[in-house]
Amino acid sequence: MAEFSIIDTYFNRPQHHAVDLGVGDDSAVLTPPANQQLVICTDTLVAGRHFPLDTDPHAIGWKSVAVNLSDIAAMGAKPHSILLALSLADIEHDWLKGFSQGLYACCDQFGVSLIGGDTTQSPHLTISVTALGWIESGQAITRAGAQVGDYVCVSGQMGDAAFGLAHLDHVLRKRLDYPTPRCQLGQQLKGLASSMIDVSDGLAQDLGHILKASGVGAQIQLDALPISAALLQLPEQKQWQYALAGGDDYELCFTISAQNYQKLIQQKLDINITKIGQITQHTDLTFVQNGLDHLLHFSGYQHFAE
Ligand code: ADP
Ligand code: MG
Repeated sequence: MAEFSIIDTYFNRPQHHAVDLGVGDDSAVLTPPANQQLVICTDTLVAGRHFPLDTDPHAIGWKSVAVNLSDIAAMGAKPHSILLALSLADIEHDWLKGFSQGLYACCDQFGVSLIGGDTTQSPHLTISVTALGWIESGQAITRAGAQVGDYVCVSGQMGDAAFGLAHLDHVLRKRLDYPTPRCQLGQQLKGLASSMIDVSDGLAQDLGHILKASGVGAQIQLDALPISAALLQLPEQKQWQYALAGGDDYELCFTISAQNYQKLIQQKLDINITKIGQITQHTDLTFVQNGLDHLLHFSGYQHFAE
């Protein structure tokens, strides 16, 4: 019975009009908009691994939604709804209250409904969210379309979340705990960006996925990296380490032709974007400062590192 009272108390709000059947039956039911494709992804957060154990439950709720909406944004899609698979060690009402409020805060900000899930007991707090979104057929922006000569751009600032993780008392911890999925920018890039990824494991590694999928390379201008004031106090090597290898920023990294870049910057954007380099024919990722090559090697976040 406990399972059902948790669902009813914390995870069963009135549904959005665009949901035919939500929480409470064996499955949810949605009507796909005409001529659109379903975009779907899932991401799991494990306590102590994907967020520090002392993280505010409200932030855990927010982040578990935000990281998934970031993946939907990275395809250029419009987020629609989420499912939540929650494994809890025990029932702590204060925790559940904070968690569900954070989860709904993120849902509300991005117009998303919680339409179902699963609630189980397990020794380890684990939160899996599945997100669904829609996109006009054939319009999804994959990792595979980067063309030689395209600009490489990122949204927001790089390295803030990793800095926040290393300095848990610093204000930048907010960027670790409350990442902002770039849902609006993602959709504005539809028809403009040639490839896209969200930066969850570090810019160098995630841009590397675009390069591999597209069969190209990139040259990045170290001086162009958008870096917050707090990080600019650090030695350059440290700044680059955070900006290129730090995970959890959930900004968008995309490639775009010079012509489409001009179209993009004429639009009203809700987050700054920065041109940080260009796609090259040789299939390496290289770094330049003041016109000089810089040898940098960054591994990024490894989920199964020894
Ligand atoms: P079943 O046994 O058929 O899988 P459950 O008893 O697990 O169904 O869940 C009952 C209803 O509550 C379902 O509609 C399910 O999607 C929903 N649900 C279960 N857990 C959650 C949760 N953590 N958040 C949102 N909905 C949930
Ligand atoms: Mg069940």
